[in-house]
Amino acid sequence: MKAPSPASLAAALLPWFRQQARDLPWRRTRDPYAIWVSEIMLQQTQVKTVIPYWERWMKSLPDIGSLATAPEERVLKLWEGLGYYSRARNLQRAAQAMIRDHGGRFPGSATELLSLPGIGRYTAGAIASIAFNQPAPILDGNVIRVLTRIHALAGDPRSGTLNVRLWSLAGDLVTAAAELPHRPSRTADFSGSCSVLNQSLMELGATMCTPRDPECPACPVAPQCRAFQKRKVHAYPTPKARTEPVAIRRAVAVVERRGRFLLRQRPAGGVNAGFWEFPEWDVPAGRIAAEVLAGNLGVPESKLTSMKPVRHSITRHRIHLEVFRIEATGVLDSVGANAHWVTRSQLNALPLTAAHRKIARQMGP
Ligand code: SF4
Repeated sequence: MKAPSPASLAAALLPWFRQQARDLPWRRTRDPYAIWVSEIMLQQTQVKTVIPYWERWMKSLPDIGSLATAPEERVLKLWEGLGYYSRARNLQRAAQAMIRDHGGRFPGSATELLSLPGIGRYTAGAIASIAFNQPAPILDGNVIRVLTRIHALAGDPRSGTLNVRLWSLAGDLVTAAAELPHRPSRTADFSGSCSVLNQSLMELGATMCTPRDPECPACPVAPQCRAFQKRKVHAYPTPKARTEPVAIRRAVAVVERRGRFLLRQRPAGGVNAGFWEFPEWDVPAGRIAAEVLAGNLGVPESKLTSMKPVRHSITRHRIHLEVFRIEATGVLDSVGANAHWVTRSQLNALPLTAAHRKIARQMGP
């Protein structure tokens, strides 16, 4: 079978996407700021989770200026629950750089965008193409799956020569689309054919060319797809080597004193910097969580009341939080200088990581 040409693939993808594009709020605008926020939120996160976050964010911080000058805690609160919090901090740093270095203008080329914090090659290509109709390629997990299947390409798609080849194929496609006429779409306000082409690749990977159950018979590029024609769709992309999960146990103390709770703010520069949490300590293998907690707080174990444990995962880490409640009487120096007593309403307003928000919910509204 002959390799499919970029022009014929683009000619099949554009009309399909104009008809099938899901009606998503960030597709009703060409505002690069709104598109940028959606792209950053969509990294590692599903569309249905992102929609309410994006709507809240756009209402509260509708442009570069409001984001650049917002207190960091407000930015983190709007991101609370989405995880990978460096994304939120980088959004704010990039907005500040746009004010400082670009006169408050949103840069329109992929090269300028790449110089901003938190914007890598994929995001630069996505913003430049979607908002400014530039022929800039994109390559993420969905696009990798689509392209490795269409071209039946084996090997590690995230590095080495195959990665270079995939970027080049993505570039050929969006360049071919630039030559095709732009037509309006049913559900969205697209800036041109480059925007439509890149979004069609994202959409195909998200809705049709899925990892386990691709809908090949209904796919617009099925006649040109080498993996489908060879009946080897599941062979592409080449599966990653499995990484073993790492189990982590932590003991968490919900310390209460006269209706106030003890919270610590995570230090700058580390994981989840700026977020607030109940004091917690690692539980070494072979130790009991209550014993670790009692030792660190300087209280007898008998004062601790067990709460519902919380489990969550970050990349390959499987984290098990064993949670205990305690009524404090004295000052607990052992929790550090960055600890504060907060009221219940302050606890609700502060940014907490998702796992600690689950703990807070156990105590009612
Ligand atoms: S034909 Fe199947 S494998 Fe090929 S691109 Fe379409 S959905 Fe993916």
